[in-house]
Amino acid sequence: MTGITLNQVKKSYGNVDVIHGVDLQIEDGEFAVFVGPSGCGKSTLLRTIAGLEDVTSGEIHIGQRDVTHVEPAERGVAMVFQSYALYPHMTVEQNMSFGLRMSKAPAEDIQKRVDEASKILQLGPYLDRRPKALSGGQRQRVAIGRAIVRNPDVFLFDEPLSNLDAELRVQMRIEIARLHQEIGATMVYVTHDQVEAMTLADKIVVLHGGYIEQVGHPLHLYDDPDNQFVAGFIGSPKMNFIDGKVSAVNDSTVSVVLLENESSTISIPLKEQLPTVGEKVILGIRPEHFESAEAGGTQLTLKSDVTEHLGDVTYVYANAPNGERIIIERRAERTAQNGAEITVTIPVERAYLFDADGKRMR
Ligand code: ADP
Repeated sequence: MTGITLNQVKKSYGNVDVIHGVDLQIEDGEFAVFVGPSGCGKSTLLRTIAGLEDVTSGEIHIGQRDVTHVEPAERGVAMVFQSYALYPHMTVEQNMSFGLRMSKAPAEDIQKRVDEASKILQLGPYLDRRPKALSGGQRQRVAIGRAIVRNPDVFLFDEPLSNLDAELRVQMRIEIARLHQEIGATMVYVTHDQVEAMTLADKIVVLHGGYIEQVGHPLHLYDDPDNQFVAGFIGSPKMNFIDGKVSAVNDSTVSVVLLENESSTISIPLKEQLPTVGEKVILGIRPEHFESAEAGGTQLTLKSDVTEHLGDVTYVYANAPNGERIIIERRAERTAQNGAEITVTIPVERAYLFDADGKRMR
């Protein structure tokens, strides 16, 4: 059993606190993805698990072992970096087997493991090539192969696909997902790309400023974000946020006037704490959840600014009367014109409400 437990992990550089007491449980065999904007601490957190950074305080357990003060090589982890860091003068086979040869593993054992890894990664035809004769995707596969041959309990990936072009990134993403299915090891993966996080993860950990904002299955985070940060980070194009003010509270239904010009009011049922009349709130609605003008309900009339036709889907970038920018996704729409007026309906069951601090109101 090789789950990972972080217990109040803190990391500071001098007097700069980068990770602020993180608690996290990653289950055995789980694919966990740390995602968040640049500088939020995701690489630092991964590197503390690898042992490449010491924690300032807190504990890290891998399986049943407290590894907080254990050397990286003794932690049973293998790491794959963004820069492949292959030895240029060695062949693919020599690169993959280097670590095992250094640790004086028996020759047959090395051969067997390199064969297995090259089969999983379809590197068989390239074993005699040097890195310079490989594409970026093939080089990254060799770097992953080097991790696989060590047969680690845990794989750690630090933005492994960032150096690849868009098409190759999609291809490698699928290969990494397949690799996880095939070998079933615990994997922790760092990315700033929410699409990578959504497509790879069993569990997404959204980080922001050294704090965990929310942990959950990708669709859970999409459907039920705890706060405005997660709501805006998960989903593409991102959720629209519209300023509003509470105009009435009746039983458990809150009426919100949108856009401060009192043009539209929406009534949203809440189960938990109710706001007070006059409180500022933020309404969230995803681009894909607007309905057409014919649907009954709260409507917004907007002026379209830029229209992107992608074939299956059209994105209309529009402006509200108060200048707020709103993105609308339209399917089966080919005629939308720039500068036209567009009326959309906000379905109540798709609307999210946040308080002025960005906390979700449920
Ligand atoms: P991310 O991977 O989310 O982009 P990092 O974990 O690399 O973020 O960095 C988190 C924060 O810690 C950043 O503000 C960065 O400047 C700071 N940081 C990282 N490494 C060091 C270091 N060796 N010394 C000082 N500050 C650092």
